[in-house]
Amino acid sequence: MGKMLANNKTTSKDTNSSNSRNSAIQNIQQRNPVRSQVDQTDSSIAQIFGANVFSRQTMRGLLPKNVYKAVVNCLDNGVRLDPALADVVANAMKDWAISHGASHFTHWFQPMTGLTAEKHDSFLGFSADEGAILEFSGKNLIQGEPDASSFPSGGIRSTFEARGYTGWDPTSPAFIMESINGKTLCIPTVFCSYSGHALDKKSPLLRSIDAINKQALRVLKVLGSNDAKRVSCTVGPEQEYFLIDESFYLLRPDLITAGRALFGAKPPKGQEMEDHYWGSIKERVLSFMMDAELELYKLGVPVKTRHNEVAPAQFEVAPIFENSNIATDHNMLLMEVFKKTAQKHGLRCLFHEKPFSGVNGSGKHNNWSLADSNGNNLLDPGHTPHENLQFLVFLTAVIRAVNKHGGLLRGSIAFAGNDHRLGANEAPPAIMSVYLGDKLTQVVEALITGKAGEAKLSRTIQLGVSTLPDLPSDDSDRNRTSPFAFTGNKFEFRAVGASQSIAFPNTVLNTMVAESLDYLATKIEEASKSNKDLNAVVQNVLKETLTENKRILFNGDNYSRVWHEEAERRGLPNHRNTVESLPTFITKESIELFKKYSILDEEELTSRYKIMLESYCKTINIEALLTMSMGTTMILPTALKYQGQLASTITQTKSALGNIDLTAEEKILKEVAERVGQLRGALEQLDALSKEADEGDSDLLSHAKFYQQKVIPAMNNVRTVADELETMVDDALWPLPKFREMLYIY
Ligand code: ADP
Ligand code: MG
Repeated sequence: MGKMLANNKTTSKDTNSSNSRNSAIQNIQQRNPVRSQVDQTDSSIAQIFGANVFSRQTMRGLLPKNVYKAVVNCLDNGVRLDPALADVVANAMKDWAISHGASHFTHWFQPMTGLTAEKHDSFLGFSADEGAILEFSGKNLIQGEPDASSFPSGGIRSTFEARGYTGWDPTSPAFIMESINGKTLCIPTVFCSYSGHALDKKSPLLRSIDAINKQALRVLKVLGSNDAKRVSCTVGPEQEYFLIDESFYLLRPDLITAGRALFGAKPPKGQEMEDHYWGSIKERVLSFMMDAELELYKLGVPVKTRHNEVAPAQFEVAPIFENSNIATDHNMLLMEVFKKTAQKHGLRCLFHEKPFSGVNGSGKHNNWSLADSNGNNLLDPGHTPHENLQFLVFLTAVIRAVNKHGGLLRGSIAFAGNDHRLGANEAPPAIMSVYLGDKLTQVVEALITGKAGEAKLSRTIQLGVSTLPDLPSDDSDRNRTSPFAFTGNKFEFRAVGASQSIAFPNTVLNTMVAESLDYLATKIEEASKSNKDLNAVVQNVLKETLTENKRILFNGDNYSRVWHEEAERRGLPNHRNTVESLPTFITKESIELFKKYSILDEEELTSRYKIMLESYCKTINIEALLTMSMGTTMILPTALKYQGQLASTITQTKSALGNIDLTAEEKILKEVAERVGQLRGALEQLDALSKEADEGDSDLLSHAKFYQQKVIPAMNNVRTVADELETMVDDALWPLPKFREMLYIY
């Protein structure tokens, strides 16, 4: 026993890396599920829900009647709130926040980094008579002037006017963020430049919500439905994520800096047993989930479902849908709360689209629909002929939108992280298409041909006269391979990346559909002038529009090669990566589209194109530098150490035993030495290319192309050899936690 200990001691110098991996595992063994600060067993969700939100209910209790009415009118009907009333609201908000323990406030906004931003101000002020007082005015509420000159603007702001301004968005409620030593009142705001250009993700989203409202109301009106005051977009984003124990995470510079593993051989067991999906949730993970959910309930985020996802250590959370603006804020909050709570539980939450190659990545399924102010879902087939007619018009508008502007939809989800996922046979391909399901497809075909389909449709469809066959409201046989699927009463845009804000994809989606609704409303209005039979008019317009756009419909397997060939025959764009995809934004048609509906003017649109390209280059550059540093300082030395051990083993054996056959040992040594040479070569090549990229092309697109075509393959070459070495080198020497550990031990 004593001897073994001594032995361990002598080898410990050589096995530092394995020791850190081992002590990570020992740490994990010591961990226990962490208790939440809120005792849910004592208070029901209903009591906790929205406790930290300056909600309608809160305002009704605190504001004078006339002010409350004005706020509600602003929320429900988009009527601007009189600035004179803002002081009253501000005061109530301050008192409420202070009574809940808040000491500071911040305008909370979403710059084009894709993250949220905050700059805190205390309520503290001084008066000669009273000394320290707490103050917050209508002016503080309505406008902020953070010196926010370091956010990306894509060239909109010149440095002499670098300031950005934040403006209160009353349609998303203020809330209180808790942290260990205090609380902060957060006021959702938009962020723009002095000239009024949008510098954030929220302003264009709000504009697109307005645009769709206007056009949808026109459609309703021309169809004879006049009782809706507003139409809003509803969104329910399902969020996938990974959880990794913090002890492993901290040993992986790549996870820390890039959010994904740049190295790592495929684990012997991946997801092939399909034993993780919807499996029983481990106690430690469940305690994290419940804790995070409680925090979210306080913030009024209606999280609803939780389950294990397909890949090991992967999970999903889904909320109840809300209007698109609030759903966007709530998804940002969800990601923030999940990250924070995970740390409290000794875990790290990864939202990267592909943290671990070889197993599924993470997406965000953006469930989307339209609802009128009476609560009717406009994409719900309904039961009366009139409801069906209306449904088919809105359905046709979406189909047409995806066909006409699929490239933009694709572009809205184009970034480095999502490139790993789309088309990787676990997520939809980069080709945009619409899945309708068999029954609805038959309806569409019948509309196009004017004849009844074969199966369930026993008669010709006469819009507004006959009812549609009952459409399944939840098509359980839904197609999981489609990027844009109709799921009974909503569309599910499944290609959105897990880490990205849903603001931009929804902005694009809303804009496209607004244009389509505009088109249909105009067509129907025009045809109605000469033909008083509304049903016949609509039937004709739909027939024509569906015929023109039916190439976008596809119910089959989107992963299959057959579809890729078919899609090409149909002329559907296939932008395989970010660099191919982004230029769609600056075509003449796109610029006109975004301008026409006052979503983004040319400068604003171009700035987004630039920021997205820049962000792509920066991401790849960081990954390349990390690959080099980890390859050079962690993997190469480990391989050399092992090579040295093998070499001395061979010499020592030779000197002990003389002329003995050491072919096997020599073969191992040779294989390792070869890989070392290859790794060194690959690192040199990556270094050279990355320097070349650095010197850079002044043209942003060519610069990005260089990263995509040269730097990424060079990174992949380094990884291939490094991952081979991982499977050869003595496990005790390997410094990086392995996939088989990270994905299974937590
Ligand atoms: P799944 O797609 O996993 O079967 P569901 O269909 O129940 O699950 O819902 C998934 C998400 O879709 C949820 O977040 C839900 O709130 C959202 N959702 C449901 N109806 C709508 C709607 N009308 N508009 C937007 N999102 C919706
Ligand atoms: Mg779903």
